[in-house]
Amino acid sequence: MIAEQLYPAELAKFIASSPTAFHAAASARDLLSKNGFTQLDEQAPWQELPTGKYFILRNDSSLIAFIWQDQANRPRYLEMIGAHTDSPCLKVKPKPVLKNWNCLQLGVEIYGGALLRPWFDRELSLAGRVLWHETGSTELHSSLVDFQRPIAIIPNLAIHLNSEANKMQEVNRQTDMVPLLALTEEEEPDFLSILVKQLQSQESQESQGALPQQIKITDHELFFYDAAPPALLGLDEQLLTGARLDNLVSCFAALQALLVAANGTAQGTAQNCMIILNDHEEVGSTSLAGADGSFLRDILERLLPDPGERQAMLRRSLLISADNAHALHPNFFERHEPQHQPLMNKGPVIKMNANQRYATNAATAARFRLLCEQAKVPVQEFVVRNDMGCGSTIGPLTAAKIGVDTVDVGVPSLAMHSIRETVACKDCWYLYEVLRTFFCAAE
Ligand SMILES: [Zn+2]
Repeated sequence: MIAEQLYPAELAKFIASSPTAFHAAASARDLLSKNGFTQLDEQAPWQELPTGKYFILRNDSSLIAFIWQDQANRPRYLEMIGAHTDSPCLKVKPKPVLKNWNCLQLGVEIYGGALLRPWFDRELSLAGRVLWHETGSTELHSSLVDFQRPIAIIPNLAIHLNSEANKMQEVNRQTDMVPLLALTEEEEPDFLSILVKQLQSQESQESQGALPQQIKITDHELFFYDAAPPALLGLDEQLLTGARLDNLVSCFAALQALLVAANGTAQGTAQNCMIILNDHEEVGSTSLAGADGSFLRDILERLLPDPGERQAMLRRSLLISADNAHALHPNFFERHEPQHQPLMNKGPVIKMNANQRYATNAATAARFRLLCEQAKVPVQEFVVRNDMGCGSTIGPLTAAKIGVDTVDVGVPSLAMHSIRETVACKDCWYLYEVLRTFFCAAE
């Protein structure tokens, strides 16, 4: 169990080691493995699981982990926490290399609803997943790659060449957002061989056994990210600023709560707890690994094959869907509903929406409120102004998919979907405290 003073630094470490959804899932896998969780394979048949701690990865980017009791202690209900591993960013196109004059640039697609302006003039690094095979073989392997240093920049245009720059100006998603990687005299720079070199140097550093001498990368899913790690900020270091706080703050809190609950298992006090960390939330969740896909339903069907028994258990269960909320921005306070202005440092936010963009209802809000009281954590509410659009999250999709009562909550944050977002350290701790209470308190 992490102490409150150490929590922000541990969270920052988790975020820094998770530059992409693939890496976030790998960070979660490492943490769980280190704490005695067993990985299950979706491609193999499962026998009836004995009491224990388990996790499953899908697409290398989504993860479900749980504490499970054996048949004799078959659960009456399942406490669930959901969050997402992905964040808006720039994804390298399949054929990305652009040689413009002597500039080597990479074409990117915009992943999710990114706030684009803050990506200019940043030190960017690159990470993701590559598929490769040994020359002469057709056996494919998948590896994570991370340059871990600034290798690119999207330079702004000087104000002398654009005197309108400080007025609201549209960013052209095709022509303006093209990272610069190098100055080169090469006619046709070979991006794949740059990747191979990076992979080989990485493998030797990590001493995971050397790669074969001759490998060929066939495909990649690579994302640019802010090379600057998260930082504690403010006169009293009350704030945490960094990339991907939406939604790694919630992933980390869910993981830590599960680890504490797993300790309870050893002492025979654990409940049946599950965390679901989904990829692809930022692009609508309809995918192999997303909340609007089959992942969770498939796992639940394997755990409880009897449909009646499964449905009854789910109808007795609660899902806390944790995803960041909008804190009141002191410079733009008029953008908030006057009666619902979440403040930083004042605890997790219950998110509500009459049009079901959030899954919260009075019954689930009340349960969360009581949990906060039990955990001695303050709690706030958010609804969007009627003259503005409302975001959404995995809560409504999961609730609809498996029929589980759901509450949407989150840590209040500033600059959501920017390359750097800001939250209060105290709120991250509060979220963890209430999730821990959820998993550990006897019903
Ligand atoms: Zn989110």
